[in-house]
Amino acid sequence: MNRKEIFNSLETKSPAVLIVGGGINGVGVFRDLAANGVDVLLVERADFCSGSSAASSHMAHGGIRYLENGEFRLVREAVQERNRLIENAPHLVKPLPTVIPIFKFWSGLLNAPLKFLNLLDRPSERGAFVIKVGLVLYDAFTRGQGTVPTHKFYKREKALEEYPRLNPEIKYTAIYYDGSISSPERLTLELILDAEAEGDHANALNYCSLAGVNNGKVTLRDEETGRAYDLSPQLIINAAGPWIDTANRGMGIDKRYIGGTKGSHLVLHHDKLREAIGRNEFFFENKDGRIVLLFPFFDRVIIGTSDIPIEDPDDARCTEEEVDYFIDLVARVFPDIKVSREHIVFRFSGVRPLEYSQAKTTGQISRDHSLFEDRFGGIPVYSLVGGKWTTYRAFAEQVTDRALTFLGLTRKRGTQDTPIGGGRDFPWTGYALIEFLNRVERETGLGGLEPKRLFDKYGTRALEYATHIVKASDKKLTSLPAWSYREIEYLAHKEKVIHLDDLLLRRSTLAWLGVITPENLVEVAGVLGEALGWDDRKKDDEVNRAASILKDRHGVNLDDYA
Ligand SMILES: Cc1cc2nc3c(=O)[nH]c(=O)nc-3n(C[C@H](O)[C@H](O)[C@H](O)COP(=O)(O)OP(=O)(O)OC[C@H]3O[C@@H](n4cnc5c(N)ncnc54)[C@H](O)[C@@H]3O)c2cc1C
Repeated sequence: MNRKEIFNSLETKSPAVLIVGGGINGVGVFRDLAANGVDVLLVERADFCSGSSAASSHMAHGGIRYLENGEFRLVREAVQERNRLIENAPHLVKPLPTVIPIFKFWSGLLNAPLKFLNLLDRPSERGAFVIKVGLVLYDAFTRGQGTVPTHKFYKREKALEEYPRLNPEIKYTAIYYDGSISSPERLTLELILDAEAEGDHANALNYCSLAGVNNGKVTLRDEETGRAYDLSPQLIINAAGPWIDTANRGMGIDKRYIGGTKGSHLVLHHDKLREAIGRNEFFFENKDGRIVLLFPFFDRVIIGTSDIPIEDPDDARCTEEEVDYFIDLVARVFPDIKVSREHIVFRFSGVRPLEYSQAKTTGQISRDHSLFEDRFGGIPVYSLVGGKWTTYRAFAEQVTDRALTFLGLTRKRGTQDTPIGGGRDFPWTGYALIEFLNRVERETGLGGLEPKRLFDKYGTRALEYATHIVKASDKKLTSLPAWSYREIEYLAHKEKVIHLDDLLLRRSTLAWLGVITPENLVEVAGVLGEALGWDDRKKDDEVNRAASILKDRHGVNLDDYA
């Protein structure tokens, strides 16, 4: 059903399950319930994957450092889920070699026991011994799966041979594997499209919020028209991330579940730094044990992250102090590479929806997930607190099992081995990829580098895109020659694009890579506007809206507009 049809259907009937929040946790449950035939509606007050789920460090990871907190169950689950993501969404999640530069041998030994005794104010830097123990355990959790190689340890000489620009003061480097998620936003969207493809019983609306209650019913508001809809579902799943407590309060549930911490990142356009890290993530800590990462993101580098308590998640912005902190930290690992503010092309910041806790340091707050149950009138409300991007599927499975039991249904399908979006029928070998690209060319006539360009973005859904593109005459955008009119048109019609910023920030990585200019902003708005039937005034409004979001939230200053 399209947006209008979904809203029309709400005039006459309520879904069995209402999910509030279109971040990865809400979407994970949506996909699982849809696969099991449940009548479910997901509403997201802004665009899908625009809250915490868009602020992540882009890692599908087991969380090696959580071992120190004794969170063995979480780490085991997370490494298994990391492997599943690599297998089910290989077009967007790839194995990520991760290098830890190590400056000490014994340091950090007391972190874990002191944490256990709750005597730790500040963790100390982890040395080679502690890291080795952690990596042995980490490998043990997935022994036999073989999705990623096991860890290695290099002494100083070998490490400097491999990574010549590394700080010569290092004593060792450890190399282990996690996963990188190139576009968490596209992955979330593809899960939604897969869920909706199950049938008319599963529908998702962006720009639609849980706005309050009315006469024992919950009220949804279409944020585009202001129109309200009163519903009485049998079950409400509150997956509003850092906004869970606020959403609950709207239903008269006065509980404190969230004690979130803010984390920020920068995207740098710095060729020397990008070359120095190669295809590796560098994962290290500063002298007081706080974790920092340098992450290869296309031809850019992401650097993050901070961990700062915050009250209102809407206030999360990357501050100038955080920028100084990140810039200084690069020097610890690559002392002869100078980074300055000119290299920053994008900033992002968000709140980890962690469970409220009295822990002494933010790093000690558990990253595990929990489900809490309350009631709105007679309707159960499940709050999905905490969790990691990586473990969304396992969390969703637990929530879905409970929801199915409540609804008196039995599970028909699991999601462990279900491919996601363009990960379906994935060509795993070089030969299979050539076959696939030839097939796209044969079936659509789209030749040259185009099939590969589409495959890199959309995986095997490239065929769908190519089929649409060739159905009418097409041309490239003047200011963004890597994009064509018909590709944008397809995104607009198939991928629930409502605003220009949805396309720039979440259906593509254009804004993330720092390639938006006043010229291409206007041109993309024009093409998108044609597809969505915008008049000139609406196009101007969208350009202004996107420019102001880019400036306010992402530090991107498009002087002519913001
Ligand atoms: C800085 C940082 C780095 C991280 N790095 C990683 C990492 O590398 N790997 C990893 O596995 N995890 C990472 N995480 C954790 C992970 O990103 C989060 O745990 C996860 O994204 C939480 O998803 P969520 O769906 O619960 O919340 P969200 O993504 O915030 O989704 C909640 C949604 O609810 C919507 N909403 C709120 N109120 C309403 C309402 N009234 N009506 C309708 N919708 C509403 C919001 O707009 C929001 O989109 C990181 C988190 C942060 C902040």
